Order: sequence, then structure tokens, then C-alpha cells
Amino acid sequence: MEYDVIIIGAGPAGISASLYTIRANKKTLVLYDDLSSLEKTEKIENYYGFPDGINGKDLYQNGIEQARNLGVDVKKQEVIKIEINMQANNDKENRDKSSYNFIVTTSNRIYHSKVVILATGNKKNKPKITGIEKFEGKGISYCAICDGFFYRNKDVSVIGSGNYAVSETNDLINVAKDVTIFTNGKKAPDVRAENVKIETRGIKEIIGEDRVEGLELEDGTKIKTDGIFIAQGVARKS
Ligand SMILES: Cc1cc2nc3c(=O)[nH]c(=O)nc-3n(C[C@H](O)[C@H](O)[C@H](O)COP(=O)(O)OP(=O)(O)OC[C@H]3O[C@@H](n4cnc5c(N)ncnc54)[C@H](O)[C@@H]3O)c2cc1C
Repeated sequence: MEYDVIIIGAGPAGISASLYTIRANKKTLVLYDDLSSLEKTEKIENYYGFPDGINGKDLYQNGIEQARNLGVDVKKQEVIKIEINMQANNDKENRDKSSYNFIVTTSNRIYHSKVVILATGNKKNKPKITGIEKFEGKGISYCAICDGFFYRNKDVSVIGSGNYAVSETNDLINVAKDVTIFTNGKKAPDVRAENVKIETRGIKEIIGEDRVEGLELEDGTKIKTDGIFIAQGVARKS
């Protein structure tokens, strides 16, 4: 099947792009796999137009519905290969305007498109600590500016030791009661605030029932915490 534009990813980036391509009268297909980062988000309060906030899963589904209502084809199929259509590209002089530059293969079928937009999100740089994935959206966050407000006057932890961790900590110090930075043996970052502590001992496990309640260190010490912000590595690559 042929499209003017194929967009891979149905998160905020992919769906937003599709709203504009369809309104520019371009036949548009959005392909998505399963999870968007949004689906892990319990509640989003920092988005315009939702007075009571909105659950990430609902926002994701609303976006897909909005695109479909405007005429975008949205299909749940994993993209496994994107190839340049050599035939279309080699014969530039006689090229029919309807030649399609890309061949997109999914788990179900093959599509042709003039343009491909990649909006596949990014993978988080996660430390190897038991419980991280279990508590994502339930006390584990990757964005202090998004979620810090949920921890007003509470104790929070930041995992990381570089500039990214410092930046997340700076966003939290005016909101949380106490912030502990866990550096996993690395040199302590330079953050000067009364409510910031540095802990260099390694973390073994995140503990809690339905939500994060604390951390167990490698030496067996248990530390209470209400929320954990992962800020490992470099912000843009995480
Ligand atoms: C726990 C958590 C809490 C968050 N809280 C907030 C918040 O409160 N406020 C806020 O503003 N942001 C928050 N974020 C960040 C926000 O979710 C992301 O910034 C946003 O979802 C990124 O949008 P995106 O469209 O770039 O990627 P994503 O939303 O991740 O979408 C990626 C899309 O690509 C698709 N895809 C990937 N590979 C393939 C493939 N091979 N074939 C087909 N489809 C594919 C996926 O199925 C998905 O549809 C949070 C993130 C997390 C993880």
C-alpha cells in the first residue's frame, strides 16, 4: 500500500506530526508497536488544558483517536525494516512523480512511502537495580520537572552523579523536603543546599508494595524514600 508519509511511532511526537501532514492533504500512515513512554505515566499534570491532569495511557489513546478522526491511518504493527527503494532513486530523470522512496516492512505487511518520519521515542539509561521497572510511574521517575511536584515536602532520591543528576536535584530542592543523591561509588557532585545529602554506597534493590517506599543498599541498610529520580549518564541520551 502507498502513502505520502509514513510515521513510525504513535506517541506525542508521531501523532503531532500526523495531525499536520494529514491537514496538508498528505496521505498518512502512523505505525506503532506497543508501549509509549506515556503509557507508563500515572498522572500528567503539566499539560495545558487538563484541569484535573490526565493518565498517560488515556492521553496516548486520545492522540491516536484524534489522528484517526482526521483521516490518518493508524496501525499497530512493529516496523522491522526500512529500505530505500533503489528503483525509484536510480531512475531520477524519468522518475514518475508517484515513485516511492522508501519500503517499510512491518510484522504484517509491506508499505511504500515518499517520506518516512521516525518518532520512536528514546530508551532510558537505567541502572541495574532490582525493582526499577516494576515501580516506573509508581515512584520511579525520569523527569524532575514533570513529576517533582508530586513529592512536595517528601523525601526523594536522585540516582546519578553527573551534570544531569545535578540538574534534576536543582529542580527538586525547592519542592521536596530532602533530596539524597546516590552516586554508586562515584565522586559526589557539587550541589550546595541544606536539604541535599550525598550517599556513595551502592543500591541493591528498590523496596515497596504497590509504590516505592524505600531503598536497600548493598550493605543491607534500608533507607526510606518517597520517590526516586533516575538521572544517570547524559540527559539527551538517556
Ligand atoms: C514514567 C514516565 C513518566 C513521565 N511523565 C511525564 C510527565 O508527567 N509529563 C511529561 O511531559 N512527560 C512525561 N514523561 C515523558 C513523556 O512520556 C515522553 O517525553 C514522551 O512520551 C515522548 O514522546 P515520543 O513521541 O517522542 O515517544 P514515545 O511516547 O515513547 O513514543 C514512541 C512510539 O514509537 C513506537 N515505536 C518504537 N519502536 C517502534 C517500531 N519498531 N515499530 C513501530 N513503532 C515503534 C512506540 O510504539 C510508540 O508509539 C514521562 C515518561 C516516563 C517513562
